[in-house]
Amino acid sequence: MKDNFDHVRKKITIAALKVGRDPGEVTLVAVSKRVSVAKIENAISTGQLLFGENYLQEAEEKIRDIATDVQWHFIGHFQSNKAKQVAELFDAVETLDRFKVAQALEKKLAQINKIMPVYIQVNIGREEQKGGVRPEEAEALVRKVLEFPHLDFMGLMAMPPYFQDPEKSRPYFRKLRLLAEDLAKKGLKGKSDKLGLSMGMSGDYEVAIEEGSTLVRVGTALFGEREEG
Ligand SMILES: *Cc1c(COP(=O)(O)O)cnc(C)c1O
Repeated sequence: MKDNFDHVRKKITIAALKVGRDPGEVTLVAVSKRVSVAKIENAISTGQLLFGENYLQEAEEKIRDIATDVQWHFIGHFQSNKAKQVAELFDAVETLDRFKVAQALEKKLAQINKIMPVYIQVNIGREEQKGGVRPEEAEALVRKVLEFPHLDFMGLMAMPPYFQDPEKSRPYFRKLRLLAEDLAKKGLKGKSDKLGLSMGMSGDYEVAIEEGSTLVRVGTALFGEREEG
């Protein structure tokens, strides 16, 4: 597994340098859904200190079992009734896509006096089955999130439609970047100078980096195929 991490980290560096970006601007989120605690600990021993989880019950057990102080990002489907657990367990949320959920999360965070970095998920390919706010509705949600004192608006996240050929994802990554640039131009960028872009997975993270990704969410390329459950 160390080889997988070395390989992915190297490809991240190459992709960033190819387009004149500083590789240090790109953070690797190791997506550890359905990956065992033993494998996560192995990843930690290679220096990986940031993980992404989709399922709350599974994440809760793992976060409890892993003693090392690592960061956990929630990247799963997010409903209001999960706000308390998400607020307590995670260090950041990448999949916020509704006002009601933002409101519920704000309320729980206020109760525990915690500020949480959040990314707004955009349904950049306008796919029925996928989460995310519609691109034209992103600005309105961002404006509301910026009013919540316990939500630290960091940027946008998207999962484009799946293609075998990663080049086909490029226009979607570009669209997300342009949307973020448009928001930033309007001053809608929270505390950061530049909005972050969480985009790119095992099959397409290099293209995503070429298009400006600052967070790549990679699972299979690091941990191997997951068991379906
Ligand atoms: C599972 C998942 C990933 C990682 O996918 P891989 O193809 O295994 O790299 C990234 N982002 C989200 C939101 C996911 O659910």
